Amino acid sequence: MLTPVWEVEPRTAERPLLVHVNATATGGGVSELIGGLLRHQDAGWAVIAGAPDFYQVTKYLHMLLHGRSDPGRLEDPQLMRAYRDTLAPQVEWFARHLVPGDVAVLHDPQTLGLAPGLKALGVRVVWHCHIGAVVAPERGPGAVWRAFRKELAAVDAVVTTLPEFAPPGVREVFVIPPAVDPAAPKNRELTGEEVAAVLARIGLTSDGATPGVTVTQEAPLPAGSRVVLQVSRWDPLKDMPGVVRCAVRLPADVHLVLAGTDPTDIPDDPDGQAVLAEVRELLRELPEADRARVHLVNISLRLPELNALVVNALQRRADVVLQKSLEEGFGLTVTEAMVKGRAVVASAVGGLRQQILDGHNGVLVDPTDLDAVRAALTGLLDDAQLRRELGERARKVVLERYTMPRLAEDYVNIIAGISS
Ligand code: UDP
Repeated sequence: MLTPVWEVEPRTAERPLLVHVNATATGGGVSELIGGLLRHQDAGWAVIAGAPDFYQVTKYLHMLLHGRSDPGRLEDPQLMRAYRDTLAPQVEWFARHLVPGDVAVLHDPQTLGLAPGLKALGVRVVWHCHIGAVVAPERGPGAVWRAFRKELAAVDAVVTTLPEFAPPGVREVFVIPPAVDPAAPKNRELTGEEVAAVLARIGLTSDGATPGVTVTQEAPLPAGSRVVLQVSRWDPLKDMPGVVRCAVRLPADVHLVLAGTDPTDIPDDPDGQAVLAEVRELLRELPEADRARVHLVNISLRLPELNALVVNALQRRADVVLQKSLEEGFGLTVTEAMVKGRAVVASAVGGLRQQILDGHNGVLVDPTDLDAVRAALTGLLDDAQLRRELGERARKVVLERYTMPRLAEDYVNIIAGISS
């Protein structure tokens, strides 16, 4: 029997209760966001259960919302049945914990199927969809909205990052960007010595090793080398293979660090192992000198504090942080780099375009144009003054627009805006 679990039990008996519901307690921006938000909001956090076939369906829905899969497959009634059959029995668990008037915030397509059951309990339902792309409906999103007509009709409000990501015809749409917590372990200030110690401890700059972090490299990262970093799940849309391809023809002292979550740790991300295998294969094919300049860092989420510290240290060590996603709902990795005053090169897609004004607080590129990506990286790597200026403005923008108190305030307004 599949049953949700509390990742964070509500601390209060006061009603109405606010409960976030998502598919995983660790791994990816949504769990990062909810974890951070709960330090600024009195709410609970429940995580649904699912088997691998359920996550195959939800990953397909994710790709469809990005216009990156075949919408025809959604006509197979088996598919939505498998999805609904996983979620319907889990409503019972919510019936034991929620009362009419409480608010459930369902995050992403993985949990949207709970909406009709929760609505029938008298619970107010918000669907916070963190993903989306500016694509024609017939390329994918339209099929998802049709398949989820019943679920969307049960939702009191939809929250998206950009207005274009919202489904048509829903009662209420709130457009709010995500946020980071500058004081969290992932973002807090680290001294140069702390950064160096962390990177030596995990074996990136030394022959050391730490349980929970696997570094794959020909030789340790040389002191004084210039570093380009991409931090991502091993998701096809993050284009880690494309980052490896960028190694060719970059200046000889530039090293690429690709850091990602151990794919076995994220149940709702079934493509991770294949992408990591593709990256390893590409590395084998690279000329030896280029291969020696690429470092893979695989971080287990079983040690979340270590994960946060390693990501923080890597972002601070990087001369340029790259986010070469093919699509991106928002891209917290970029926000995290920006709050640390890093110079960022990011794809001119989705939420990355929202965060970065090209040439002002970062550089935007066409992710499919490798020469343009290399030119943007080299241009920044060769100009310390520009990196500093972009980084300073980036930090300022994040502190003004993308911090947790703002997101908590946005939620207060959303809840006030939906009738009980
Ligand atoms: N992340 C992490 N460890 C990793 C890779 C990623 O903690 O090895 C975190 C990253 O710091 C960020 C989140 O996962 O907080 C990714 O969020 P983003 O919005 O960039 O992408 P998503 O994974 O949600 O598509």
